[in-house]
Amino acid sequence: MAVISVVAGAKSYDVVVVGGGPIGLLTARLLDGLEFIHNQTECDNSLHHHLGHQSPIIKLPLSDGVEARGETKAAKYFASFLFTLTGDPVNCLDWNETKSDIDWMLVSSSQPGGSWNKYSAEQCTVSPFQWMGLPDFPIADHVSAECLGDGPLGRKKITAADLCKYYEHYSKSRLPQQRLRFGHTITKACYLKNMWHLEIKEDDGTTYSIRTRFLVLACGNQFEKRLNIPGENHTCVSHSATSARKALSKLPPFSRVLVTGRGMSAAEIIAEAWKQKLHVTHVISEKHNGATASSSEILKTITKSEHEYPKQAKVSHAVFGEATSTYNYVRHKGWKLTEIKEQVATIQAESGSATLTQHFDHIAILIGSEPDMSWLTLNGHPLTDLKSFCPETMELFVVDSQEERNLFIAGSLTGERLQYSCYGHAACAVHQIKARLAATGEK
Ligand SMILES: Cc1cc2nc3c(=O)[nH]c(=O)nc-3n(C[C@H](O)[C@H](O)[C@H](O)COP(=O)(O)OP(=O)(O)OC[C@H]3O[C@@H](n4cnc5c(N)ncnc54)[C@H](O)[C@@H]3O)c2cc1C
Repeated sequence: MAVISVVAGAKSYDVVVVGGGPIGLLTARLLDGLEFIHNQTECDNSLHHHLGHQSPIIKLPLSDGVEARGETKAAKYFASFLFTLTGDPVNCLDWNETKSDIDWMLVSSSQPGGSWNKYSAEQCTVSPFQWMGLPDFPIADHVSAECLGDGPLGRKKITAADLCKYYEHYSKSRLPQQRLRFGHTITKACYLKNMWHLEIKEDDGTTYSIRTRFLVLACGNQFEKRLNIPGENHTCVSHSATSARKALSKLPPFSRVLVTGRGMSAAEIIAEAWKQKLHVTHVISEKHNGATASSSEILKTITKSEHEYPKQAKVSHAVFGEATSTYNYVRHKGWKLTEIKEQVATIQAESGSATLTQHFDHIAILIGSEPDMSWLTLNGHPLTDLKSFCPETMELFVVDSQEERNLFIAGSLTGERLQYSCYGHAACAVHQIKARLAATGEK
């Protein structure tokens, strides 16, 4: 367990935001004074009309009955100010710049853009680019040509490289630089005497400690899941689309690749393998192996959207279609990878009736990612499973609200799939923080 030493004289903040991904950046901007308000004159959603014109949109508790995309109430509510259920833009969100006296800091191990820095630069989003922009900063100017060809008008996508440039531009032009710590990682956090105590390590190895009253976790899903089978750490094995892509680029045509996983990352790598004339053996567990079911559902939906996602739709047909093999693709559905010895993989039917052993030039285990909260302790125990920790308040975006430990979670860490669904987490968390600071007369 991480043990933290409380450092006397460590600098103290009102709020620390963990994560420089899109949701961390938006949280920081809201702490810095941005306020979202309602534009009634452009609004035809009757569920918003109680707000009135030019008034703040966040009033807690959130009103019931908002219908929009997203899993959590905060997500659904905020998304209803951005897009219709079919994803078309609505125009009833405006914003104000107000003066904030909250003393906040953002700490992020990555550069601005969070997880988008980890994806292959040329990877295009599944979502139209408009869904990826932060509400207060136009994104259209940041879309370069590579992703424009795919879809029909109005459903253009954006590459990870362009997205990172966009978020970098956002952090430089919209946020006070002295409050941003990119390349700094929180290595320990614990709650003691009404304060969060944090230990932080810079990329150059320097360490320092700070304290904060409120902690907002926008730290995404950083840990690539493992199967926990023998041989999984062999050099011929990759666990992310980026490293699999790199490995594939070094293989000669007709090499043999094993892919396990059935989400968007697996689809990307299968498509890449086909492009390079490699032979794919695809092992699909019916028992999930911890893989993200949601990503698999997206891939299934794409079968019907050939015009918009030609590359992924081809994979989707192979994965979910009738035929189990073609000249460069063999599917083992209801099988699992059980062992890797050098480059020889053993796969087994989940019914237990059959086993196969074969040599592969590369093995890509792409079964999703999950939060890494090993650095955070609550009540002296590591916080390993956010959902089991507080399932009820998860729905309301706030962890531990009743006991007021002032810990908030936001973004993909909550399990939300689409980025724009997460903006509501940031807005609600900041609203709640301001209310608590005001209630104690601190700000
Ligand atoms: C392959 C793939 C494709 C996707 N495509 C789409 C799409 O088309 N449309 C869509 O809407 N969404 C898509 N998503 C989801 C999207 O990436 C996330 O919704 C988005 O990145 C979430 O942002 P976030 O700010 O919550 O977290 P992240 O972007 O994951 O950022 C987390 C941040 O926390 C930092 N961090 C973590 N731990 C620490 C620590 N201990 N100390 C300091 N910093 C820390 C990280 O460095 C990072 O900056 C996709 C995801 C994947 C995996």
